[in-house]
Amino acid sequence: MNLKLKKMLFLPNPRGFCAGVDRAINIVELSLKKYGPPIFVRHEIVHNPWVIKDLESKGVIFIENLEDAPEGSRVIFSAHGIPISVLKDAENREMPFIDATCPLVIKVHNEAKRLFKDGAHIFLIGHEGHPEVIGTMGQIPIDSITLIQEKEDVKKIKPSDFKKVALITQTTLSVDDTKEIIKELKNIFPDIIQPPKEDICYATTNRQLAIKSIADKCDLIYVIGANNSSNSLRLVEVGKKSGCSDTHLISNISEVNWFEIEKHKNIGLTAGASAPDILIQEFIGKMHELYNVEIKNISVANENITFKIPKELNE
Ligand code: SF4
Repeated sequence: MNLKLKKMLFLPNPRGFCAGVDRAINIVELSLKKYGPPIFVRHEIVHNPWVIKDLESKGVIFIENLEDAPEGSRVIFSAHGIPISVLKDAENREMPFIDATCPLVIKVHNEAKRLFKDGAHIFLIGHEGHPEVIGTMGQIPIDSITLIQEKEDVKKIKPSDFKKVALITQTTLSVDDTKEIIKELKNIFPDIIQPPKEDICYATTNRQLAIKSIADKCDLIYVIGANNSSNSLRLVEVGKKSGCSDTHLISNISEVNWFEIEKHKNIGLTAGASAPDILIQEFIGKMHELYNVEIKNISVANENITFKIPKELNE
């Protein structure tokens, strides 16, 4: 007789690694193989402590500034992108570099450069201090781009200060909150130029749709991620807003509140775009060990996107 308590475990799909994260980690792994350690990576290659620790154990040294590595060292730029000034700095220091910036972030950089060239002042919707925002703002002169973090910021804009305006966004924002900010911007600038295709990437959109699909069925949801990972933080917000006020961010199962799980029947589990599957499997394994678990897979999208690895690592 099975005396274990019965639990439903809702697993929304897609969850976990996206194509940009997969490519960035692959670039570091292949560089280690080709050039041998140490390999310097400017900023966390992706925002996840498990990934960082794993790469450090293989000989990667994470730095925040290029001057933290000896001149001439090989360096990789993280998936979040870099300002042009960092690229120039690497060239001046004669540091051979590989850029692991996600191609979907590069797309936003190119939009910023094109719009600036066309004479538009750009409003970038994003979070201050996030490396992606720093990288995007650093593509064009700083007085030609204004950061908008929330609706309140739009109210401070004086429309008569601008002739031609455009908007771009960070790739990992809340889809719903961003729509609200765009609505505000359109109220004061009806002709604002928008990107032909949304800047919020497919992975962010799909993971938010996926957590929405389980939120009202769950008493408690855990999002595996990191507190510096924008898309993990947004997943927690979306889970809460969509019907599960008990949605929590954890970096691994050591942070799970098992007393809470004991109290509830319907548990949800998802992961941000930079959280590896091994952490999800660890959670599922522990649930099976402790409870009589019925898994409910709910899929809202199929993802089959992959991004090419730089040529020099394929040779
Ligand atoms: S979350 Fe989106 S933009 Fe960021 S690395 Fe993944 S695919 Fe690229």
